[in-house]
This record gives sequence, structure tokens and C-alpha cells, in this order.
Amino acid sequence: MIAFTHDVPPQRVVFAARALLHTAEEAERLNFSRALIVATPGSGARLGQRLVDLLGARAAGLHAQAVVHVPKAVAAAGLEAARVANADGLVAVGGGAAIGLAKAIARERGLKILAVPTTYSGSEATPIFGLTDGERKITGRDAKVLPRTILYDPDLTLGLPAAVSAASGMNAIAHCVEAFWADGRTPVTMALASEAMRRFAKNLPAVVADGADAAARAECLVAAWLAGTVLAAGTGLHHKLAHVLGGLGLPHAETHAIILPHVMRFDLAAAPEAKARLGEALGSNDPANAIAAMLQQFPIPQRLREVGFDRSKIDFAAAEIAAASIKTPRPASADDVRSLLVAAY
Ligand code: NAD
Repeated sequence: MIAFTHDVPPQRVVFAARALLHTAEEAERLNFSRALIVATPGSGARLGQRLVDLLGARAAGLHAQAVVHVPKAVAAAGLEAARVANADGLVAVGGGAAIGLAKAIARERGLKILAVPTTYSGSEATPIFGLTDGERKITGRDAKVLPRTILYDPDLTLGLPAAVSAASGMNAIAHCVEAFWADGRTPVTMALASEAMRRFAKNLPAVVADGADAAARAECLVAAWLAGTVLAAGTGLHHKLAHVLGGLGLPHAETHAIILPHVMRFDLAAAPEAKARLGEALGSNDPANAIAAMLQQFPIPQRLREVGFDRSKIDFAAAEIAAASIKTPRPASADDVRSLLVAAY
């Protein structure tokens, strides 16, 4: 029998070329009078400064110290910056790292977030937060951290390097894949996952080949939004494994990309409906191989050994996954995970 609960909190989404120019107007809608802009260092900080300028009197400062996986000390520094600035709102600009730090601050201080995403992570569309403490990544969900508004400006992604586009696109594709067996899946989330997959299949190789292809960039950003919205329905082996490996210090999006074809081979063997839907979106009767072939064209690491994975941690990772007792679409034992990691290594 079909049974589901579709319960999605409201979120305003503005998508347009040069949408960045609407930042002040969107901040005003959220009643921000002293917004702290949260970004990553380097080019992220330069973009953050542009937002400070666009927000004018509504900006209380720029905190460009976000790093991937939000280590606890980074979250603490962000909280302190929000306190010192007496911020009444947060503008997160950048990839999942900047949005993740804004979420950590929002959760503690009850501030609203205006997100301006520049990668395909999809974090802006979820109430999921993550923090790392030593070698463990902790994730949870809290309605407070879901950005109230997302401002998508595809122009901001034109300078995203091919390797970041590829890895972050694969991260988003992983959200679509697991949407088909997520416990919280609904007809809506499955339809969105198919649609996102279809857009990525057609446009991700194009943006990796030519980052200046504005039409393909816009399509990928739409797909990233859709992929992000389905992530909240739940995940399975793939995301759990990526989180465990992320806690061990591996790069987030690249790790997703490397393990995805391996997890797909394992899980799709027990998930005929997911296989059929992904196959339809990818135009292939072997979706795992289609994703592996796409990955091979991309200028990113293809194996865990290329991203500094310490092989001696295989048993630790396998035990962590076995302890999570993943059931759908099939149980994954420590032995299953060990074989998968050896293949991906
Ligand atoms: P990221 O935010 O670290 O960005 C990757 C790199 O690209 C950074 O060096 C950044 O400065 C650079 N960059 C970003 N946008 C750019 C642009 N437009 N032009 C040029 N350079 C640009 O990585 P990510 O893959 O976006 O996000 C990964 C993080 O997001 C992880 O911490 C992951 O756990 C988290 N995440 C969270 C969720 C969630 O729902 N909570 C979902 C997906 C990912």
C-alpha cells in the first residue's frame, strides 16, 4: 500500500540572471537590519564583500571563515562573530561550506538565513545541519536552519572551476539517487528527483566541458535546487558512507563522486523501481555504469586512494555503517561496506 506524509516548510525561491541585485530587497523582506554575511575565504570573501556593498546599511559585517564540514571551532568563531556584530540575520553566500556555517549560527542564535548558493550542494534547500567533532561528523535536522529565502543567480556559477562543478554536481546526483529509497519519499520528491536527474544528465557534462555555457549553468542550478529539496526526505548507505568518510577528513563532494557508482551497483541490484526511474532519466538501462562513465569524463579524483583515504580506516568506516543498520533498499553489512570501499580505493 502507498503511504506517505508530505510536510514541507515554506521557503521563498528567487531564480534569475543577476538575482544578486535583489539581495537588499530580499533582506528587507526578512526584516534584516544588521545582516552578517557568511562566506568562505578567498574568492568567497570577494563575493561576500560584494554582498556587503549591495546590502549597504543592512550589512553588519563579513565573516569569511567557513570551511567544509563545519568543524566545531569554526562554528564557535561564527557564533562569536554574529554576537559581536549584533546580527539580526544571516546572508550565506557560497557553497555548502558557507551555508553550513550559517546554519550552525542560525541554530544557536535563532537567526533567519538568506542563502545565495554558488555550487550544486543543495544545502540551501534542506533543514539539515552538520558539524564535525574530531573524526566524527554529526548531522541533524532543525526547521530553524532551513534558509527562509534562496536567491539563485546562475551568473555566480560561471566561474565555478570544472572540478568543483563536477564534484558538486555528482554530490547533487547522489541526492537524486537516494531519493528513490529514502524512508520519507513521496510522489512529489520522487518526481523532483527524476526531473533533477534528467537535467543533470543533459547539462552537467556540458558545464564541466565549458563553464561559460550560461544555459547549461542555469539548468544545473535548477537541478541542484530540486536535488536539494528531495534530500530532506532521507538518505541511505551512500550519504551515510560519505558522512563517515567526511568525518575522516576526506573532501566532501569528491568523496560523494568517487563512491556513488559503487553504491549504485550495490543498491540498485535490490531496487528495480529506482533502477527503472534513473535509467529513464539517464537514457540508459544500466544507471550505475552511466554514472561511472560520466565520472570518468570529469577532471576529478576517481578513487579513494587519490583523495588521501587511509586504507587502515576501512574497518572503522565499515563498523560505523554496520552500526547504522541501514535497511533500504537492502541491508549493508560491515563486509558489504568493506568490499565496496576496497573497490572504490
Ligand atoms: P564548498 O562550499 O567547500 O565549495 C567548494 C569550493 O568552491 C570552495 O573552495 C569554494 O570557495 C569554491 N566556490 C564556491 N562557489 C564558487 C564559485 N561560484 N566560483 C568559484 N569558486 C567557488 O563545497 P560544496 O561542495 O558546495 O559543499 C560541501 C559542504 O556542504 C560539506 O560540508 C557538506 O557536508 C555540506 N552539505 C550539506 C548539505 C545539507 O543539506 N546540510 C547538503 C550538501 C552538502
